[in-house]
Amino acid sequence: MIDISIVVPLYNEEQVFSQLAKRLTDVMDSVPFSCEVVMVNDGSSDKTADLLEDLCHKDTRFTGVLLSRNHGHQLAVTAGLAHTRGRQGVMVIDGDLQDPPELVTEFHNLLMRGYDVIYAVRKNRKESVIKRFAYWIYYRLQKKISNFNIPIDSGDFSMLSRRVVDHMNDMPEQSRYLRGMRSWIGFKQTGYEYNRDERQAGETKYSWKKLFELAFNGIFNFSDFPVRVITRLGFFTILLSLLYLCYIIVRKVVFDDVPQGFTATLMAIILFSGVQLISLGLIGEYVLRIYNQVRNRPLFIVDKLLQEGKEIKKQNSTL
Ligand code: UDP
Ligand code: MG
Repeated sequence: MIDISIVVPLYNEEQVFSQLAKRLTDVMDSVPFSCEVVMVNDGSSDKTADLLEDLCHKDTRFTGVLLSRNHGHQLAVTAGLAHTRGRQGVMVIDGDLQDPPELVTEFHNLLMRGYDVIYAVRKNRKESVIKRFAYWIYYRLQKKISNFNIPIDSGDFSMLSRRVVDHMNDMPEQSRYLRGMRSWIGFKQTGYEYNRDERQAGETKYSWKKLFELAFNGIFNFSDFPVRVITRLGFFTILLSLLYLCYIIVRKVVFDDVPQGFTATLMAIILFSGVQLISLGLIGEYVLRIYNQVRNRPLFIVDKLLQEGKEIKKQNSTL
């Protein structure tokens, strides 16, 4: 019987792999409950998959989920969660050891005290100033505009109870923002402050493009603000133009000197075509999301599943 599963997504992590395997093995050897590790190879192009297969054959506490291609971090974690067997709960960590796996003991204690979600809150970050600033702004913006409370400065590093994982597995949304889904599920949640370590080896696998995609998912999936803002902007514009109309009429009647303002007209056209384009873009964002959802594709495709040192054949890969 497995109590706790640890999910680790991996994308081109050959450099940190042996260190990661060692830390996780030590943790599993030392904790008083039984653990498994579910590692997801997210279509790496380096030796990560081979290393993972070797490890799964050597130590049966490791499960390997090898995806058919790179699906992105959030879907890799989703695939991992779908293959966990821990009956008490699941911890999610990054593969680069920025999230210390040793915290499983503290998280497990909180889980036993009745919390369903224990999310790690970063006390510090070791990234560049620009990235830290971008994160700072983003988390605060997200908190302001999201429909419900998503905690500030907490990423995917967390422990989830079995029922939360089951609920998450039941959520079919395609563009996944796990930390938002986690908050949405509810139950008793608590934060746990920790110092985020530096990446132990290799480079970040989150390009700016991927980061922006994640940020957009966070905003569009968990907030009505962008659409609402269009309506408000529309009202504001109408109000402004009515006021301007009144002003012109007064000038016309009182002073009879309305200037034939070409500049003002041009300005108005440019300004409001900009507003219209942005508004169309915002609506397009939602339409795109609806389109992605109704296609109803599986969230990820598994190429190979290694469990208990054996390869398990799978019929299909939907959740
Ligand atoms: N990752 C993944 N698929 C991707 C990108 C990243 O599975 O397409 C994994 C990566 O291997 C790591 C975790 O997600 O285990 C976090 O990525 P990274 O450390 O590069 O992000 P950062 O900490 O720089 O935000
Ligand atoms: Mg990292």
